[in-house]
Parts: sequence; C-alpha cells; structure tokens
Amino acid sequence: MRTQNPIERLAETRHEFGEHGGVNMSVEASTTFTVMKPGTMPELFEGRKAAPEGCYLYGRHFNPTVYQLGRQLAAIEGTEAAYCAASGMAAISAAILQLCDSGDHIVASNTVYGGTYALLHDFLTTKANIQTTFVDITDLAAVAAAITGKTRAIYAESIANPTLRVADIPKLAELAQARGIKLIIDNTFSPLLLSPAALGADVVVHSMTKFINGASDIIAGAVCGSTEFVQGLMDLHQGPLMMLGPTMDPSVAAQISLRIPHLGLRVAEHARRAAIFADRLHELGVPVAYPGLSNHPDYDLIQRLRCEDYGFGGILTLDLGVKQTANDLMDVLQNKYGFGFMAVSLGYFDTLMSSPASSTSSEMTEDDLSFAGIGEGLVRMSIGYTGTVEQRWQQLQRAMSDVGVRDGGLAVAN
Ligand code: PLP
Repeated sequence: MRTQNPIERLAETRHEFGEHGGVNMSVEASTTFTVMKPGTMPELFEGRKAAPEGCYLYGRHFNPTVYQLGRQLAAIEGTEAAYCAASGMAAISAAILQLCDSGDHIVASNTVYGGTYALLHDFLTTKANIQTTFVDITDLAAVAAAITGKTRAIYAESIANPTLRVADIPKLAELAQARGIKLIIDNTFSPLLLSPAALGADVVVHSMTKFINGASDIIAGAVCGSTEFVQGLMDLHQGPLMMLGPTMDPSVAAQISLRIPHLGLRVAEHARRAAIFADRLHELGVPVAYPGLSNHPDYDLIQRLRCEDYGFGGILTLDLGVKQTANDLMDVLQNKYGFGFMAVSLGYFDTLMSSPASSTSSEMTEDDLSFAGIGEGLVRMSIGYTGTVEQRWQQLQRAMSDVGVRDGGLAVAN
C-alpha cells in the first residue's frame, strides 16, 4: 500500500505570488475586508457568498494568507481542504468539537500527547459531557469493543507520543467506516512519512509547532479533511474555530509557509540520523525503541504504510528503567557534551530530550501511565541535524559511559 510522496502533491499546488509579483506570497494584514456593494454584506453573513471565491468577511473567520498555508497542508496530507489554528491543541479541540456534541463518546488511544489526554480525560468530560474510553490502539478487538451507540470518533496518533507505537490506520479506518464513525489521526510525529488520509483517516490534525515549523519558535496547528468538514469549522453558528476563536496570525502563516518547501529535507535528515543512532544503540544492547528497528513491534506495519523517502521518523526513546539514570543521562548530554537540550517538544533542528512521565505525559494518572507503558526512566529524544553524526555519536557514547549505560545492557550508576 505504498502512498504517493506528499511533496509531489505539494509541487503540483498553485504557487501563490506576492501582490507585486514577488516570489513569496504577500501577508494579508487586514482583519476586515471591504465589500463593494451594501447587499454583499448580508449575503456573506447568510453564507451565500463564501471565501475563498473573492469575498472575505473578517479575519477570525477567514484570512487569505492563513488559507494559503492551509492549501499547502491539504496538499501534504492529500485532503480536499485544511485550515490552520493558533496551536495544535486548538486544532485537536476544534476537530473533536466539530464531530461530537454533548453526550457523545470517543474511543481514543491510551498513548496520546499528555495535553490531548487531559483534554479527553478531564476537560471535555466536565465542560462538554463528552466521554472517552482509552484503549490500546494496537488491539483492534479492544477498539471495536469500546465503540458504543454514542461513539462518534476514534482518535489516535499515527506514531504515538511517547511510546512510538504505530496506529494501523487502514484497519482503524475500516472499523470506523463499518460503525459509521470518523477516524481522527494526529500526524504530528510523522509529517510526509505517513499520509493518514490516503490510508483512510477522515480528519488529520497537526501540531505545526513541531517538525512542520522546525525552529521551535512558533506555536501553530492545522486541521485537514473534506471541504465540508473544514468549512464547518468556520460556521457562523456552530463552527468551533469561529466560535472559540483560536485564530492563526497571518504573519505566522506566512513564516510557516516559507518553511514548508524544506520540510522534506528536514524530515529525511532527522530520520536518517535517528536511524543511525537507533541502530548503534541497539547493537550496544541499550534498550532503544525506534519504529525503524526490526525488533520494534510495529516495524512490519510501518514498512507497509510509510513513504520510504522519509525513513521512520526523527524520534527515538531509551528506557533506562530508573528516573535518576534518565535524568543523569540528559544532564550530562546537555551540560557536559552539548549533545542537545533538555526541553519538551520535538522537530527542532537541535536534539531535544525529555522524560515524558514527568513532563509531556505527566497529565496521565499512574494507572494510565502504566497501561501505556510509559515508565519513569523513559527518555524521549527528538534527534536534530546540527553538527555531524560522528560528533554527536561520540557525545552520546561518552555520556552513556559517564552515567553507567554500558555495552551489553544497563548498569545503573550509584
Ligand atoms: N499533538 C502532539 C502529538 C503533540 O506532541 C503536541 C505537543 O507536544 C500537541 C499535539 C499539541 O500541540 P501544540 O503545543 O501546538 O498545541
């Protein structure tokens, strides 16, 4: 089931020139738009004239620059449409609220980003009476069994944060279709590498704060799906983006748009380096998880689903068993060898390291952390591409030896 390389679709989309013929598109800085005749205004509000056919209403509803970035995202994801939001969480919330009303139910993966877990586990239950059952998303029988008459959507991450388990998107899509519900996939960990919509997902969400942006300087998100779904997000009465207002600033959209053309180069290099480190760590007997290692439980699956030009992603994890060892390793890697930074997030040009159990997954209950297999000694590394591979590898080896993570297994330092 090899999918088309998304950058071919991107290259086929219309190039947006600047107002004065510049090679880059102009930034539409206005929050409001002039109509030429008084009769047009009520038509806009009644939805009889809609952007982007030429009549724009108001910046929270629609901005042409933000729309252009949405077009790039739609091309990457192979969806009819996409629109952007101020953060990944805004995109995720909007997608869920678009599909679910009070009293509805979601079946979600038990390993999702901690903020998404909290949204589903705490916020939506209390604020909107939307309940979620968390399941092992790789157990299709468990997913099927959790679906009830009230279920509206299955929610999963293509490559899960931080366990790196891979969702069987075609099988989940089959299940969702058979039960008349939608499949939402968060593709933040695997842009270009996986194309969830081509594999059957109805809605694809992104935190563009990560790989897509690539410089850890912008918070942004996107929702990709059918034209009807995406337009519905801006409905003047029921659209979650229109009503809750997590609007993307057009200057932010323009900045991200300029980074999309080198997303493929960046993703491929993140993945190339992550694969080299994962292979070498595995050879040394260090407990490393990486979807590109043949001992990864989803290796065969991701082989079937991926676009091979982008490897297996830029994230790997080390399960060092003990929190102190994990902390010591990150400390030495940052402060002695300059291998990377202790910081949450991912997709940055430098390596970022964090311990999910006490950071990005700390919203989860102890039971849910253990159900998901997120131990206190787990270190997540988003592998960067600064420096050379051999320089970084030496730093990593020295740091491991300093803290007692040695060849042939683990020796925990006192
Ligand atoms: N989805 C995933 C997989 C994430 O890792 C994150 C943040 O870490 C988000 C969504 C939330 O994105 P944002 O911080 O842009 O709201």
